[in-house]
Amino acid sequence: MFDLKKYIKAGSVDQAIALLMENPDAKLIAGGTDVLIKLRDGKPGFSELVDIHDLKELKEIRQDEANNILIGSGTTFSDIIQSDIINNHLPMLCEAAQSVGGPQIRNVATIGGNVCNGVTSADSAPSLFALNAVLEIRGKDAARQVPVSKFYLGPGKVDLKKGEILTSFRITLENYQGYFGHYYKYAMRNAMDIATIGCAVSLKIKNHILTDFRIAYGVAGPVPIRCPKTESLSMNKKVCKTLLDEISRTIETDVSPRTSWRASKEFRMNIIKELSKRATKEALIRAGEQV
Ligand SMILES: Cc1cc2nc3c(=O)[nH]c(=O)nc-3n(C[C@H](O)[C@H](O)[C@H](O)COP(=O)(O)OP(=O)(O)OC[C@H]3O[C@@H](n4cnc5c(N)ncnc54)[C@H](O)[C@@H]3O)c2cc1C
Repeated sequence: MFDLKKYIKAGSVDQAIALLMENPDAKLIAGGTDVLIKLRDGKPGFSELVDIHDLKELKEIRQDEANNILIGSGTTFSDIIQSDIINNHLPMLCEAAQSVGGPQIRNVATIGGNVCNGVTSADSAPSLFALNAVLEIRGKDAARQVPVSKFYLGPGKVDLKKGEILTSFRITLENYQGYFGHYYKYAMRNAMDIATIGCAVSLKIKNHILTDFRIAYGVAGPVPIRCPKTESLSMNKKVCKTLLDEISRTIETDVSPRTSWRASKEFRMNIIKELSKRATKEALIRAGEQV
């Protein structure tokens, strides 16, 4: 049973913000694939909803005059998979989108909802971390920008204040031009499963030397993370098989997986190490390297 006490459909972002201010207990609903499950399970705090589903101003994917890429928070994973801009410039994010749920979920689940629910297994998060995405947030009186690496405050907690809405993700040109990447999701089955571990690698290479190396994980800690020790170890290193082994050894010092019913901490650590090699290798192959 859905114990829904109040439901209001917003006609614009400004109206949604005003409705959130007038109804302090209300939650936003976008695709509803997380919210409706919580409502059905009777979790407190989900019985008043402000609906932003299908607001046009939250659904656009475009490049601005400086070729930065903007992805509206209300963009569904199916929209992302079908976008030429994302396919051409951010194929890693496309891979992440393709790995979410099944077709019915991807048709309604939004990238904004995926990040705002604050869970570490969000499939879009590792790629957004590796792309240094910046979140554009609007409130009653002001707008602000938050790097995705600062947005997660703890499990299920994100940096959104009363009345604020995530409107879009910005990926600047210098964070995608010349980069090659790959998202690798390990789950117990190929579809309709939450990541046991998700790993995104984005790298830049010149004369077989890594000039930038970014590696990000979901489920390797309480929130999605980047791996600073492994990244600095890999910088300015020549591509070779030993480098992949070094990356997989160092990654242990960057992560803190836990045991859950889905997998033990030890099993997750093995997957983390293996995915560091597989995702890096695939990104290197895309960059034209032989490994
Ligand atoms: C069967 C099934 C399979 C799934 N498989 C996967 C999977 O493989 N990978 C994965 O990552 N997830 C998966 N999920 C989880 C879910 O589909 C995703 O997290 C999805 O992206 C959530 O988006 P939504 O639009 O449905 O969010 P909603 O349920 O509408 O909202 C989620 C949360 O974000 C808040 N919110 C939404 N939009 C905004 C905004 N613009 N500004 C501020 N707050 C906002 C809401 O208030 C709510 O707290 C699955 C869910 C189901 C039911």
